[in-house]
Amino acid sequence: IVRIRNLRKSFNEHEVLKGIDLNVRKGEAAFIIGASGSGKSTLLRCVNSLETYQAGELWVEDYLVGAERSGNRWVEARASTTARRRSQIGMVFQRFNLFPNMTALENVISGLVMVQKMPKAQARERGMDLLAKVGLAERAGSYPSQLSGGQQQRVAIARAIAANPAVILFDEPTSALDPELVGEVLSVMRELIKEGMTMLIVTHEISFAEEVGDSVYFIDKGVVAEHGSPQQVIRQPSHPRTIEFLARIR
Ligand code: ATP
Ligand code: MG
Repeated sequence: IVRIRNLRKSFNEHEVLKGIDLNVRKGEAAFIIGASGSGKSTLLRCVNSLETYQAGELWVEDYLVGAERSGNRWVEARASTTARRRSQIGMVFQRFNLFPNMTALENVISGLVMVQKMPKAQARERGMDLLAKVGLAERAGSYPSQLSGGQQQRVAIARAIAANPAVILFDEPTSALDPELVGEVLSVMRELIKEGMTMLIVTHEISFAEEVGDSVYFIDKGVVAEHGSPQQVIRQPSHPRTIEFLARIR
């Protein structure tokens, strides 16, 4: 679903991604771990066209991110193409990013109604199903300010899966939460993984990655320093930087 080859990204002179290789297959839960500033968020943002990249290839399903077909050639993607593709990738941020003036239900269905042009009644029905799925059916009419951080993040997850995206990107979805609220968000994520959702997850929840991950990428200073199963990367890391990082965060 996601195929990244030798991806490079700089902000002005500062090279942040220095040749990333990464693959996420359909139904896979791939985890990205690494120190602050190593480029994890930038990588996710490239997948979702929130950042451009300078070199390498970044494929999502059958298209090259940032480009579109013109006859046999790839040319720069139009803004409308990028917007449509972005709506087909789910993203969950550290700070919930809900619309404060919309109810939980309205937040979940806003993309369905505004981008996908789904009829309102149908969208509401789907929205209620999604809220039920994340355990919040009874809070459909609540505004974000009336919900706990864990509840807000579950609404954000319901919104991210609303359009049946090919892949969902999570950028530290639990790191802004009080410790007692982390579990409810992880259990929603665990359910999605069980259902076979394709997910690319940046997190510091190492034991969660170990429990449910299919693969783990350790990113160090803009390169994948180590990659493999959770068993390999988390249990038996071989790269000194991975060992040091894991020792630091445990
Ligand atoms: P954290 O764990 O703290 O979230 P991260 O691994 O997600 O870190 P990034 O946010 O991807 O790291 O940032 C990687 C580097 O890119 C950092 O040095 C950061 O300062 C720089 N950077 C990120 N976004 C921009 C930007 N818009 N303009 C300039 N530099 C940026
Ligand atoms: Mg980040």
